Amino acid sequence: MFLKRIELQGFKSFADKTVIEFENEVTGIVGPNGCGKSNVNDAIRWVLGEQSAKSLRGGSMSDVIFSGSEGRKAVNMAEVTLVFDNTKKHFDVEFEEVSVTRKLFRNSGEAEYMINNTPCRLKDIVNMVMDSGLGRDSLSVISQGNIQSFVESKPEDRRALFEEAAGVAKYKKRKNESLSK
Ligand code: ATP
Ligand code: MG
Repeated sequence: MFLKRIELQGFKSFADKTVIEFENEVTGIVGPNGCGKSNVNDAIRWVLGEQSAKSLRGGSMSDVIFSGSEGRKAVNMAEVTLVFDNTKKHFDVEFEEVSVTRKLFRNSGEAEYMINNTPCRLKDIVNMVMDSGLGRDSLSVISQGNIQSFVESKPEDRRALFEEAAGVAKYKKRKNESLSK
């Protein structure tokens, strides 16, 4: 599986619709400080289900919506779509290409989630990506500063990272879910 494309509109510094295409190889995004590299990373984690505004480097979730700049008004909605190649069926759905979309409206606070343009729940996205080994808490996205906190983490926190990498974490989560019912 690989990420083919990201489409952002109104997300953080990406006021205008921006499309980033990836080849099935290694891609580097380079640019000066503050140009929006980490915002791309935040956008990926946001669509994959991140619910912590703090880990998206904001105070509240609406901080992901473009808040205006010199000569440019704030917008009312942030929308990000990730398009994955699914020819190897890492996502347990029949489609060869899977798009996942998340939207957030500033005024109403309303959120929308879609898989292949069909409205769904956040939980559907979280479950789909967790089964594939991707996902919000997975090690597929390592943010700036993560490496240092791994090195400095407590043994039990580090164990959680090994469990995630070994694919055990999702079973633990389901076990805890059923025990709490
Ligand atoms: P560095 O090389 O320092 O890590 P970077 O390329 O990773 O930089 P980012 O952290 O992605 O930079 O981008 C930061 C920029 O995004 C800042 O200029 C900040 O003002 C802008 N930004 C963040 N959130 C918003 C928002 N909601 N609306 C408008 N701009 C935003
Ligand atoms: Mg950065």
